[in-house]
Amino acid sequence: MSNEILNTLLKEYEQKRLKAEYDLEKRKQNLYKLIPRLSEIDDELNSAAIITAKNILNNSDSIRNNEFTTQLKNKIEILKSEKINILKQNNLDPNYLKPFYECTICNDTGYVTDLNYKTVMCSCLKQKLLDISFNKSNMYNLKKENFNTFDERLYSDEPDLSKYKLNISPRKNILNIKSKSLEFIENFDNPNYKNLLFTGSTGLR
Ligand SMILES: [Zn+2]
Repeated sequence: MSNEILNTLLKEYEQKRLKAEYDLEKRKQNLYKLIPRLSEIDDELNSAAIITAKNILNNSDSIRNNEFTTQLKNKIEILKSEKINILKQNNLDPNYLKPFYECTICNDTGYVTDLNYKTVMCSCLKQKLLDISFNKSNMYNLKKENFNTFDERLYSDEPDLSKYKLNISPRKNILNIKSKSLEFIENFDNPNYKNLLFTGSTGLR
């Protein structure tokens, strides 16, 4: 999988995140106009968050500071529940004032932290990469690689029993495979016709 594909996907993820944040800002502004108290609550929550951050940075653990932190925590809880109640009264989801991400596991970042605190790809990003590689390996070259461009001359007409464990030449063998494949396509809708199974070393197709 090339880095280019991953980079393109990550750019898409960034766009999704930006859009989710932009949409949230629009929702906020509309709702603030209708319910100004929500704007006040968010302002108070923001300043409480700044004070909390300053406290953590100062790392002061005096008794006075602990009391202050507890009071601040209580205030935050009260403000949060007031906010949720206002949303409820207006028949809005409690998450209405949070960004709507497509993937709630990674919040559209494409990465999550696993149990060992290691940053790993989110399942949504893995799935996208799988889809792309699947489409590439199965469909991408169909225009160039199909029965019309099939050339049996690429296969030797000399049997090589020691190399291929076959009495027939590689050319005869590939022509047999071609006719079986065409037969399979002809009978694709026939439920009684057997499936084809291609086997070989890893990486062969
Ligand atoms: Zn995800």
